[in-house]
Amino acid sequence: MSNKKGFTTTILHSDRLLKPEFGALHQPVHNAVTWGYDDVQGLVNVFQNKTKGYAYSRQGNPTTAALEHKVTQMEQGLASVSFATGMAAISSTILALIKAGDHIIASSYLFGNTRSIMQTYMDMGLEISFVDATDVQNIKNAYQENTRMVFVETIANPATQVSDLGAIGDFCEDKKLIYVVDNTMTSPYLFRPVAVKASLVINSLTKYIGGHGNALGGSVTDTGLFNWLNFPNIAPIIREQIRPEMQGLTQIRKRGLRDGGGTLAPEAAHSISVGSETIALRLERACSNAAALAEFLDNHPLISKVYYPGLKSHPQHELASNLFHRYGGLMSFALVDGIDCFKFLNELKLVIKSSNLGDTRTLAIPVAHTIFFELGKERRDEMGIPDSMVRLSVGIEDQEDLIADFSAAFEAVAN
Ligand SMILES: *Cc1c(COP(=O)(O)O)cnc(C)c1O
Repeated sequence: MSNKKGFTTTILHSDRLLKPEFGALHQPVHNAVTWGYDDVQGLVNVFQNKTKGYAYSRQGNPTTAALEHKVTQMEQGLASVSFATGMAAISSTILALIKAGDHIIASSYLFGNTRSIMQTYMDMGLEISFVDATDVQNIKNAYQENTRMVFVETIANPATQVSDLGAIGDFCEDKKLIYVVDNTMTSPYLFRPVAVKASLVINSLTKYIGGHGNALGGSVTDTGLFNWLNFPNIAPIIREQIRPEMQGLTQIRKRGLRDGGGTLAPEAAHSISVGSETIALRLERACSNAAALAEFLDNHPLISKVYYPGLKSHPQHELASNLFHRYGGLMSFALVDGIDCFKFLNELKLVIKSSNLGDTRTLAIPVAHTIFFELGKERRDEMGIPDSMVRLSVGIEDQEDLIADFSAAFEAVAN
């Protein structure tokens, strides 16, 4: 029923249709580390990929499998692998698929820790070019004979640049490159990267999909569009045993998840799974609140700049309008010179000073001093992050309360 029913209906009924025991409406939390077999051949068959089953929970268990199925349906993909965090999903995907001598083209506007792990991989010998992904021409210019992968985010955090997703997809298809799209900021409710020919879709399940700031998780979804037979780095044993469309994700599950060990705990998978049921409701509300706040802040004399793709003044407003269902719950702003951003943040009484995003509560954080501190000023300048920037992850509170909180803080610092 998954492809015929609506987005929310599909998520709500996903577990039940996997027929958990006793007719449970939720997939149970399977806390077993290992599975026993009466006949040793059963265990051998699972190890040799001859039958589906579970052997050791680091590689997966029924609870994470049910969540993976849900994510796959949300992304309208082929299959997914879940991880302990979004970062585990990202680091494992690169680790599993890329070899020394390979080249990656990545957006220069990346989540800070993603930028940082890419630096680590460069220190280990990978070649990575960072380019402004808002224009496909920069990707084309960076292309080399040994390029294997292009890695972008949908809406960048914190400065909200929007990648030229469709044109990059066409280019990757043409050059047979793995096209990885980190969909965390938009989530499959606002955007499905399969529509722009992405090969692999990353989601931090910690953010909008889990949605309540109570569980970490990450996922990689194969859209089914990439032909893994064209990819030279698939291990011979996987080439031999696994059907072609599952070879990439199998290598990610084995070399990334199993060997890397960033496994999602069953309890966390369950929390995320329950949280995901309301993603459409939460995001509609968060997007409405964000749009109203962006408008309010944009018109305020103490604000020098608002970064939000929903504003007509945003450089990729058109692009975002064509790509996304709505403009998301994340925005950033900068105060005018002379207004101390710490003082302003401390005057906010409802908005929480916190680093998460995609929570039900509205969270604010000064970017240069925290999440992008380690990168240093030069990289921040390169990524378009001024010292006074505040990132705001807008939650689902009542809109009047949010506006009132900001109004009061403005009044307090203006005096
Ligand atoms: C938060 C985030 C991640 C990392 O996810 P974690 O679950 O925190 O590890 C990756 N990409 C983007 C765009 C994010 O916002």
